[in-house]
Amino acid sequence: MKDVKEKEMLEKILIDPSIHPRMKAGCIGEFTVSTQQVCPVCWDKDWNDASEEDCEFCNNESDENGMSELLVDIPWTTQKEIFKRMCYFKYQAMIEDDEE
Ligand SMILES: [Zn+2]
Repeated sequence: MKDVKEKEMLEKILIDPSIHPRMKAGCIGEFTVSTQQVCPVCWDKDWNDASEEDCEFCNNESDENGMSELLVDIPWTTQKEIFKRMCYFKYQAMIEDDEE
């Protein structure tokens, strides 16, 4: 992100928290979660047998348990839901603060 003051930015966008096309362009593919995937070939492989060939299924990315890290993109639909939900809870908190 460019040099933007976070508080100033949030105050402006919270006046109009609708989804802008630039939000989609800037966020798609930018957020991932890490998970584990199993290679069906390596999972069943005898790691002590040196004659085992390279794994074409996972390109030898798996560890001795046949597992490897998989980065999964957070879908744009989910990102929008998170944004809206966060705005909703912020709004709720603001209303409660006003009532006190
Ligand atoms: Zn494999």
